[in-house]
Amino acid sequence: MTQKFDLDLIVIGAGSGGVRAARIAASYGAKVAIIEEQRPGGTCVLRGCIPKKLLVYASEFRNETSDMFNYGWQVKELKHDWSKLINSKNKELDRLSKIYENLLTNAGCELVIGRAGIVSKNSVKINQKILSTEKILIATGGEPYIPDIKNLKSIALTSDEALDLKSLPTKILIFGSGYIAVEFACIFNGFGSEVHLVYRADKVLRGFDKDVRDCLEKELTDKGIRIYPKTTIDKIEILDTSYNAFLSNGMNINISHVLAATGRTPNIKGLGLKKIGVKQKEDAAIIVDKYSRTNIKSIFAIGDVTNRINLTPFAIAEGHAFADREFGNKTRFIEEENVPSAVFSQPPISCVGFTEDEALKNNMKVDIYTSHFKPLKNTLSGNPEKSFMKLVIESKSDKVIGAHMIGVDSPEIIQCLSIAVKVGLQKKDLDSTLGIHPTAAEEFVTMRNVKKLL
Ligand code: FAD
Repeated sequence: MTQKFDLDLIVIGAGSGGVRAARIAASYGAKVAIIEEQRPGGTCVLRGCIPKKLLVYASEFRNETSDMFNYGWQVKELKHDWSKLINSKNKELDRLSKIYENLLTNAGCELVIGRAGIVSKNSVKINQKILSTEKILIATGGEPYIPDIKNLKSIALTSDEALDLKSLPTKILIFGSGYIAVEFACIFNGFGSEVHLVYRADKVLRGFDKDVRDCLEKELTDKGIRIYPKTTIDKIEILDTSYNAFLSNGMNINISHVLAATGRTPNIKGLGLKKIGVKQKEDAAIIVDKYSRTNIKSIFAIGDVTNRINLTPFAIAEGHAFADREFGNKTRFIEEENVPSAVFSQPPISCVGFTEDEALKNNMKVDIYTSHFKPLKNTLSGNPEKSFMKLVIESKSDKVIGAHMIGVDSPEIIQCLSIAVKVGLQKKDLDSTLGIHPTAAEEFVTMRNVKKLL
């Protein structure tokens, strides 16, 4: 490595991608500093996947306990202690952040707490000090975006605050239709809040399979979540102890909380990208090629700040591949195809590959297989929740190019199926696989009714 600079690599942002990149680069012998303005962990660990999933688990117990009565269980009174939940969750986040910190220091990386700004192609300013480096990796993630609607910015919670409320909202309006909006709608509904989900789109979860989206909307309304498609907020009126939301459909809803789940933007404030000439898209995302290279030779970017596939495993994989390439002499990159994903709604959704509509848009001839059923557990419990599965098969090759599911355990099931899809699974392989009975997953190997398209 070069002696010209203080360091071989400065990573800005100790989140999912940055921590992995720093650790792996250091394992190849690079001299690495990682700069973090808050504490190690990033969005996923501290303000995203992990705290969210803990709240999902907590809120699911209410449905679970109402399911148990027809199985013969009795319970006198079910009570929930919100502050106990939030305290336990925060303890777990403290533990995880410490683990991230230890991973970095044990790998020999220097962790610097403070906000970084890039001052030149090979130097970064942090806490009034300038460090020179051969390479800079920007891994600063994203931040919530709130649209410009009267009083919304001043009163709205974002997902950051919604994960750390002092008390449970009594009536909450959630603005947005993406996965964060839907997940929080289910979380608060599970705890018993009155939930109003307001969104501009005609359906929730743009980009997901249309049948899955329809099933989810039915499940949301069956659970008592009030949905307002094709609707926006005109203005918010601030009252003494509550708010009035005036909607574009003429309705006026009185609520205790408003959550703006209206998207995220790349976190580039104060980085000095314009001055250095790092090219960005209109939405501020840093433009990179498949090797995480920006237009400036010494500057790289990974993860949400590039606004492509904004998921933790993708940011981690990109960080690892970056370190392998730049410090380990291994030329590899992360493919953007067949990245599985999940929405931790209740019931959850998961998918991999093409939706039916995407396949048709790409002029592919496809066969569609579906199954819509009541899970066995719900027959005795009386829970009306149903599961739905869909396979998208390319007719000429018999390849499974898409698998979609809404229903209990769908993320666990699709995670396994995604391995097979990645290596070129054909429908005939599913047909020759025996099911595990009785499970929901066995439906994926027993689907026989084809809907021919095109
Ligand atoms: P981040 O993890 O966001 O890390 C960026 C870090 O950079 C932060 O710690 C930040 O403080 C720091 N930083 C920013 N600017 C500076 C600066 N100038 N100087 C110093 N430090 C700086 N993904 C999933 O895969 N599954 C999920 O279930 C899931 N759920 C989510 C739920 C929510 C509510 C949210 C908001 C996101 C969720 N995500 C989920 C997305 C996931 O969290 C992100 O894709 C992932 O964290 C991106 O990693 P990253 O390394 O790009 O950035």
